Amino acid sequence: NAVSQVGLLFRVVTCKNVNLLFMSVLGQQWEEVSGYDENMNTIRTYQVCNVFDNNQNNWVRTKYIRRRGAQRIHVEMKFSVRDCSSIPNVPGSCKETFNLYYYESDADTATRTSPAWMENPWIKVDTIAADESFSQVDLGGRVMKINTEVRSFGPVSRNGFYLAFQDYGGCMSLIAVRVFYRKCPRIITNGALFQETLSGAESTSLVAARGVCIPNAEEVDVPIKLYCNGDGEWMVPIGRCMCKAGNEAVENGTVCRACPSGFFKPTQKDEPCMQCPINSRTTSEGAMNCVCRNGYYRTDSDPLQMPCTTVPSAPQTVISSVNETSVMLEWMPPRDSGGREDVVFNIICKSCGGGRGGCTRCGDNVQFLPRQLGLTEPRVYISDLLAHTQYTFEVQAVNGVSDQSPYSPQYASVNITTNQAAPSTVSIMHQVSRTVDSITLSWSQPDQPNGVILDYELHYYEKDQSEYNATAIRSQTNTVVIRGLKPGSIYVFQVRARTVAGFGRYSGKLYFQTMTEEEYNTSIQEKLPLIIGSAAAGLVFLIAVVVIIIVCNRRRGFDRADSEYTDKLQHYTSGHMTPGMKIYIDPFTYEDPNEAVREFAKEIDISCVKIEQVIGAGEFGEVCSGNLRLPGKREMFVAIKTLKSGYTEKQRRDFLSEASIMGQFDHPNVIHLEGVVTKSSPVMIITEFMENGSLDSFLRQNDGQFTVIQLVGMLRGIASGMKYLADMNYVHRDLAARNILVNSNLVCKVSDFGLSRFLEDDTSDPTYTSALGGKIPIRWTAPEAIQYRKFTSASDVWSYGIVMWEVMSYGERPYWDMTNQDVINAIEQDYRLPPPMDCPSALHQLMLDCWQKDRNNRPKFSQIVNNLDKMIRNPNTLKAMTPLSSGVHLPLLDRSIPDFSSFSTVDEWLDAIKMGQYKDNFASADFSTFDVVSQMTMDDILRVGVTLAGHQKKILNSVQMMRAQMNQIQSVERRLRDPTRTPNCLPWRENTF
Ligand code: AMP
Repeated sequence: NAVSQVGLLFRVVTCKNVNLLFMSVLGQQWEEVSGYDENMNTIRTYQVCNVFDNNQNNWVRTKYIRRRGAQRIHVEMKFSVRDCSSIPNVPGSCKETFNLYYYESDADTATRTSPAWMENPWIKVDTIAADESFSQVDLGGRVMKINTEVRSFGPVSRNGFYLAFQDYGGCMSLIAVRVFYRKCPRIITNGALFQETLSGAESTSLVAARGVCIPNAEEVDVPIKLYCNGDGEWMVPIGRCMCKAGNEAVENGTVCRACPSGFFKPTQKDEPCMQCPINSRTTSEGAMNCVCRNGYYRTDSDPLQMPCTTVPSAPQTVISSVNETSVMLEWMPPRDSGGREDVVFNIICKSCGGGRGGCTRCGDNVQFLPRQLGLTEPRVYISDLLAHTQYTFEVQAVNGVSDQSPYSPQYASVNITTNQAAPSTVSIMHQVSRTVDSITLSWSQPDQPNGVILDYELHYYEKDQSEYNATAIRSQTNTVVIRGLKPGSIYVFQVRARTVAGFGRYSGKLYFQTMTEEEYNTSIQEKLPLIIGSAAAGLVFLIAVVVIIIVCNRRRGFDRADSEYTDKLQHYTSGHMTPGMKIYIDPFTYEDPNEAVREFAKEIDISCVKIEQVIGAGEFGEVCSGNLRLPGKREMFVAIKTLKSGYTEKQRRDFLSEASIMGQFDHPNVIHLEGVVTKSSPVMIITEFMENGSLDSFLRQNDGQFTVIQLVGMLRGIASGMKYLADMNYVHRDLAARNILVNSNLVCKVSDFGLSRFLEDDTSDPTYTSALGGKIPIRWTAPEAIQYRKFTSASDVWSYGIVMWEVMSYGERPYWDMTNQDVINAIEQDYRLPPPMDCPSALHQLMLDCWQKDRNNRPKFSQIVNNLDKMIRNPNTLKAMTPLSSGVHLPLLDRSIPDFSSFSTVDEWLDAIKMGQYKDNFASADFSTFDVVSQMTMDDILRVGVTLAGHQKKILNSVQMMRAQMNQIQSVERRLRDPTRTPNCLPWRENTF
């Protein structure tokens, strides 16, 4: 070690005047003589011994010694000194020490006279004394005791130096001199190689050295360093290099070796390669992970050390116990869990034997407890089945890797047949009319009649009387006139249905009041002029009937805000076509729309509302968030739409119409109305709070952040809300992502039930274009609704298709920046939006179905919900993508017009659209690049000299297509450039760009 840590600069052992220059300034000079060491070996030394003469000054100097980069020089001297007291009669000037000097010089320039033999210019290192002993026998007697002393000096900076030894009256011999420097050797430590490094100028210096990681290792955190100390030792290691993933340290950490086949190392950690877990293997040496064998999978969250797993086997022995129209299913877990602990169960319900032999999926009304999908316990309670119906239940076992398997989950099935059940409760009853002594009530059929309803039993009593005095009357229809009541009295009503299985349960209590005499007289006076005035025309007569019904329903004098029964009065009417079905009532059919507000929206006292902050701008005023605390209820977070002050009566009506509409709905995917504040200012509409705001901006803010299943889940919610609205005969007319709100659980709810923008022409929002006296959001609206205002649930389905496109493209603007007129033309010519990037083909197909020209061919919302449910249950169906090449280059999906981007010149493009005869016309009018051509108008086409109408149309269409194609390419490129997009591993994207 010592040898490797020094660099020898100079050595004298025995010399024949070769290395040293002797010089005596005063007295006798040093001489070279032979002697003996302690072991009586013969040695040659330089001696001087002029102790009897005064004023000695004898120098001996080394030859020029090159520095070779050293900054501190060490000198080891072996010498012997005669003890003055051992010399008889020695004078007092006898010395027992000598001096060591050095002199720096860039070249070997010393001569006999220069540098001068004196302390300056030489630099004294030290006075050297023998530490141990003196020679015991006189110099002539030849035995010497040898001392060894080491001294060092620095910093030295010239190219080299000389050493000199000065005797000033002693008797001594210089036997050997070794001149060296210290260095830290080249080493591999802490995963890095450090080159040889010379020690610093001072014995306490630390010289920093950067290491270089050995092959296949990388620095961890900080740059790797060591310090070389004055003794040539490495110390204070900082940082370290570790073998990269796929490599392990061997040979004492000096080599990083690739993991052998069958072994892997996932990280850069200082650990050995691990054997591949069960059911996995490596594909090459140096593996960072092991890939699963065929049929085995890993989820994103499975650790790489975990064995690869597979799908579970089918559940075992499903046992069913039927109770009327419910069934309890229990089963044993699968024999093979696939090696995982996350097995859950899904129930597929099929009703069979519906007359046509086959089985069909059960409808939405069947209830599963605790739920239908993702059951963790091996049991489920299924209710609300149809009576006397055969069902097949498939119990699927799935686990974390089921959606990676190309096969559908294994299941066990069980067949059951339900029994007769009593009808379910009548949930909706309302008052049709009333007089001083009678009330006419009507109610809906129970949701589950479970057989043929034989009749209903209505049970009623005066509110102040005991329930034991109730009267019961039977009715074979769902409308009954209860006569013989007291004027101005409140009665309590309950109804139940009966089938051969017996009575269902009573509905909740409802309170209705007969008219007072006074009310009755007023209402007659109001009715008369209306009836007389409208008797002339049939249409007008019909309106009058509506008005009369409303007037009759008006409970004037019955101060509803003060009545404790207000909330319990029913908000629904039974439909005329299907008894019991909830039908939406247009608030504008009310003579006084305020009546509709009172009917459908609960009045909230302003003291219960606390506004916190403004979150947006509505059409009529600010939208705020805040808290609502209703007596006896928990405080809740709400959104508050306000009506700005200075409104007209019409604006107030239009503003509140949204509440009258919203208040009629009750569905998890339709925004829920809490109530209205109309008795104080400002007028407010209070709804549930949706933390993530509107869907379009939410998606734009989170571009590329969701899985396809999450997006389909959102679409499913919207479709389910729309199915509910369509079932209520409500046509939304403005279904668009901007009108969907999203809460913190990503639940999407249909909102924006304002009617006014369709009726007025004065808004400046370009989304809504005036058409036939109303405003229409062109890009979202079905062609028949644009052309002749045929708004139906089928036109809502068209808009739903556009919403799907908005969702799958994370809030891209439909048809990009094409003009509204270009959009109308393109749709008319059967062009449709192409699949957004990464959009599964199944979803794009569903969009195309929604955009069928013939509205009868579009799917119903119920079919859309079923379709999306299927996709969610079988995520494999979402794996197929439409290749980007067909998407980017053929916008609006018309394959008859060639894609301009596959041509390099305008001439080629003209040839492809079979308009090659106009090449010269285009060139001479300077329409020679696609940028210019894409901006051509009909006027330009005429100016170029295209006179035939058919050719003009063909060119114009192709130019429009080119514009759309450019838009789309730009939009895709924009999204690909967006650094916030999470990397998605669809390989074709890289190939394409
Ligand atoms: P609207 O007048 O309905 O278009 O509302 C204007 C804006 O207010 C919307 O775009 C939303 O950002 C916000 N907003 C409306 N209703 C709610 C709500 N219930 N929860 C949260 N934000 C809402």
